[in-house]
Amino acid sequence: MGGGEIAFVNEAFDTNWVAPLGPNVTGFEGDLEGYLGNDMNVAVLSSGTAAIHLGLKLLGVGQGDEVLCQSFTFAASANPITYLGASPIFIDSEATTWNISPELLEKAINQRLSEGKKPKAIITVHLYGMPYKVKEIHAIARHYDIPVLEDSAEALGSTFNNRPCGTFGDIAILSFNGNKIITTSGGGALVSPRKEIRDKAIFLATQARDNAPHYQHSEIGHNYRMSNVLAGIGRGQMQVLDERIHARRRNYDYYVKSLQSIDGISFLAEPEGMFSNRWLSCILTPSFTIREKIRLALDEENIESRPLWKPMHMQPVFQKGMHFTNGTSEDLFNRGLCLPSGSNLLQEDLERIVEIIKTVLL
Ligand SMILES: *Cc1c(COP(=O)(O)O)cnc(C)c1O
Repeated sequence: MGGGEIAFVNEAFDTNWVAPLGPNVTGFEGDLEGYLGNDMNVAVLSSGTAAIHLGLKLLGVGQGDEVLCQSFTFAASANPITYLGASPIFIDSEATTWNISPELLEKAINQRLSEGKKPKAIITVHLYGMPYKVKEIHAIARHYDIPVLEDSAEALGSTFNNRPCGTFGDIAILSFNGNKIITTSGGGALVSPRKEIRDKAIFLATQARDNAPHYQHSEIGHNYRMSNVLAGIGRGQMQVLDERIHARRRNYDYYVKSLQSIDGISFLAEPEGMFSNRWLSCILTPSFTIREKIRLALDEENIESRPLWKPMHMQPVFQKGMHFTNGTSEDLFNRGLCLPSGSNLLQEDLERIVEIIKTVLL
């Protein structure tokens, strides 16, 4: 926590706004709209996953549809596709951003079109805070007229050509889960350039109640709105977002400075025009064996590190799904490691981590 949160939470208690509506909810939405700029409309929700679920629904995804989805991601990007009775088609990554490959995306679209099946939406992800190839991907989406749901759960504060991640999709989502760069303990947001999309998201997130004095429903709704208490935490967190980004990037820069000269260790540099919040600092090692040696050496010292996300096309639950792959995400999964990346890491913590990694490699 940054310190300012408790005042907003106390205000919620003092004014008895302990409900999924209230001044902190609208205040947090206003803060996010101010931060994202570009005339975005924000609805804060109970989770990023809920935001993806509503987002896909609002893009018209339903029973029997197909949704193209970046394979290299956390399962929450893809799970909501199945909530709607649709099927994911997983698309592998390219090596310069680790995100969805434009070539494979276009190949998949053409393949599905040739089978007479037009994909209903594309889910893109700015993984670990690194923007995907925004220009190329959105050009393809426009060309084939397929809407994009931009999963910016890990990328609040990242930019592409100075424009914030979370403002590129027909609908974008954010997450404020406990592990994200800012948190409300649990929470998320749906973002759209269109006000009517945001309004419809709030309608669906509050049980789809029609405008009538009694409770009347013409559509199936959800209970997905964010609580006014948690939105108070969010308002306080917005005051320290820039500090958090600075701290995450400082972690990354320290790891690069200390480890880049070691043979075989590599990092994901920012391509031209891209600014990453460096949500997690990741390294690539020469092999699965060395990756595991480093992970276990850190674990021995009670320091947690984690392999990169296991691609969705390799997950048992999605085994039967269609996918378009090139080996990139599987290789990243085998050789990559997320190092400790918390905003509160001390210089001595970072030094200790680096020393342990060096003892394995030198
Ligand atoms: C965290 C995360 C989500 C889901 O957000 P929740 O708020 O935890 O539901 C979705 N996609 C990605 C890439 C994430 O990292």
